Amino acid sequence: AKKEEQNSFIFYSARNQKSSTNLIELEEDLRKALTKDEFLLHYQPKQCCHTGKIIGVEALLRWEHGKKGLISPAEFIPLAEETGLIIPIGEQVIDQALKQLKEWQQTLSSSICMAINVSARQVHHENFLTMLTGKLMKYDVDPKCIEIELTENTVMKNSSQSSKVFERLKDIGMKIAIDDFGVEYSSLNYLKNFTFDTLKIDRSFIADITTIDHQAKIVEAIIAMGRALDLVVVAEGVETKEQVDWLKSRDCDVLQGYYIGKPMEVSQVEELLKQPISN
Ligand code: C2E
Ligand code: CA
Ligand code: CA
Ligand code: CA
Repeated sequence: AKKEEQNSFIFYSARNQKSSTNLIELEEDLRKALTKDEFLLHYQPKQCCHTGKIIGVEALLRWEHGKKGLISPAEFIPLAEETGLIIPIGEQVIDQALKQLKEWQQTLSSSICMAINVSARQVHHENFLTMLTGKLMKYDVDPKCIEIELTENTVMKNSSQSSKVFERLKDIGMKIAIDDFGVEYSSLNYLKNFTFDTLKIDRSFIADITTIDHQAKIVEAIIAMGRALDLVVVAEGVETKEQVDWLKSRDCDVLQGYYIGKPMEVSQVEELLKQPISN
């Protein structure tokens, strides 16, 4: 048994060492990616439940790694947060998204809303508002067409500072969405303490609405709460026609998910924006 323990100890520390070298490598690669223009955005459409029109897109970050190919944000955002690299990365995201929005505002016949994900460290960063307003001026886009999606832990820390930032964003005319609603214990607390425009129901709640009655009731209650608070209610992770029908009949406002459209490259999403689908 002793030998086995020893072996497993050696194995364990070797594995740890390997994963920490991997992390150091990843961090180095992240830094380089910033200067090599390896970050790009994909766009996922959002469909209005009432009209069937595509009313906007959510910008989702992708990393085109020289050797490893396309890397999903789940794999590098946590490290970017930890190392503070999320600040310059987030700035590139806002720059690209607003540049794209400007182009669409000039070329598309109907107006479209751009949703941008923003995380805790970004909102709390002292330069956030200056950076954002600088980009608005640089691209001269209508702030009313921009929605900031806050993941729940964004709001948690330093709430008076966050309040100030949100108020300023609203003064400018931007919309603010609470993302992943329901997955954190404090979701209701955020609704109590901050004024949002939009509530995005986390996709883990949507998955079983047409198969498990209990889940369906929870989502009905969330939609009713959103209505009562005058929020736009968005369902994330919509994957089937049955879910679409269910959500429409329950007076949800906006649908997002693979059934409507996956996150896609600019050229693909442009096709969709030019010829709106309906179901
Ligand atoms: P999120 O904001 O909740 O974005 C939705 C995620 O669910 C996306 O994953 C999207 O591809 C995926 N998704 C959309 N529809 C469906 C569906 O019908 N079924 C399933 N199974 N999945 C669906 P993605 O692109 O990998 O992004 C993961 C997370 O990374 C995002 O979650 C967001 O929290 C974060 N993220 C993405 N881009 C940025 C960014 O620019 N800045 C920051 N700070 N975070 C970002
Ligand atoms: Ca989001
Ligand atoms: Ca979400
Ligand atoms: Ca999420």
